[in-house]
Amino acid sequence: MEPFNVHILGCGSALPTLHHNSTCQIVEIRGKFFMIDCGEGTQIQIRRSRVNFSKIQAVFISHLHGDHCFGLLGMISTFGMLGRTAPLHVYAPSNFEEYLKHSMQMFCNRLEYEVVFHGLDTKKNIQIYEDKSLTVETIPLDHRIACCGFLFREKQTAPHIRRDMIDYYSIPISQINNIKAGADWKTEDGEVIPNERLTTPPLPARSYAYCSDTRYMENLHTMVEGVNLLYHESTYANDKADNAKLYYHSTAEQAATVARDARVGKLLLGHYSARYSNENQLLKEAREVFPNSFLSDEGQCIAVQ
Ligand SMILES: [Zn+2]
Ligand SMILES: [Zn+2]
Repeated sequence: MEPFNVHILGCGSALPTLHHNSTCQIVEIRGKFFMIDCGEGTQIQIRRSRVNFSKIQAVFISHLHGDHCFGLLGMISTFGMLGRTAPLHVYAPSNFEEYLKHSMQMFCNRLEYEVVFHGLDTKKNIQIYEDKSLTVETIPLDHRIACCGFLFREKQTAPHIRRDMIDYYSIPISQINNIKAGADWKTEDGEVIPNERLTTPPLPARSYAYCSDTRYMENLHTMVEGVNLLYHESTYANDKADNAKLYYHSTAEQAATVARDARVGKLLLGHYSARYSNENQLLKEAREVFPNSFLSDEGQCIAVQ
C-alpha cells in the first residue's frame, strides 16, 4: 500500500507549553508532502520528524490565529537559505495575502523561489487542490474568525493486473492500459474474457479530515462522512464546556460526537488547552461516545487506513 500518513508536529493550543507545540501537521500521501497549519516552532519539529524540508510543496492555513500561522514566515525564510527553487503554494484565508506580502518584502525579499498564494473562502465547501493522486477540499468551520478545515481524499487507483491471466491468454502489453481501464479481452476464437478475471480490485481510496478550531457544529458530520481518519480539535474537557462555547472551541465529547455521527474509522484529538497537564480526561470523555478515539502527540506518524 502506498503511504498515506499524518505526522503530528504540534497539537497544543494558543499557549505554547513544555508539553505541546503550536498546531502543525504534515500529510504524506503517495510521495507528496503537504503541511497543515504552521504554528511557532514548526521548523524544529520538521527536523525532528525527519521529513525533508524541500519535499513540502504546499501549506494549508486554517485561520489567522497565531498558533496556526506564526511559523510560516520563518519557514519561508529558511527554505530560501536551503536553496529551494521549487514554488511553495500557500492556501490561506484571503486576508492573509496582504500580511504575507508585506512581511516577505521586509524579511524574504531575495528568495530564489516563488511563493504562490491561494486565497480561500472559508465559508464554502469547495475543492481547492487536485493532482493525479488526490484532492483537497475546504470544510467551513465555526470559529471566532474565518476558519476552515481540510479534507484530503486519495483518488481511486486502477485495478491490479493479474500477471498469470495476462500470460495465460497471451495478451499483448499494448492492451494492458485498456484492461486496467476496465476492458474485457476477446481471444482469437472469439471467447470474451471478462475484466474481473484479468484484474483484482484496487484497495479502497483513503481520506483524512482535519477540523481546526471550531465550536461544535451539528452539520459537520455530513461533510466528513465516512473518512478513515478524523482530526477534530478538543480544546476542553466537559468541565469547561462553557468556555468551549464562549471561545468558539470544542470539547473532546463534542469531537467524538462528530466522529460517531460521521461514522469515521478513527478519531484523533488535539489542540489541547494548556490547563491540562495530561489529556487522559479528554480521552476518557471522547471514548465514552466514540471508542476508537486517540490522543495526538508530537512525533506521532499515524497511518490513514
Ligand atoms: Zn488555535
Ligand atoms: Zn483559533
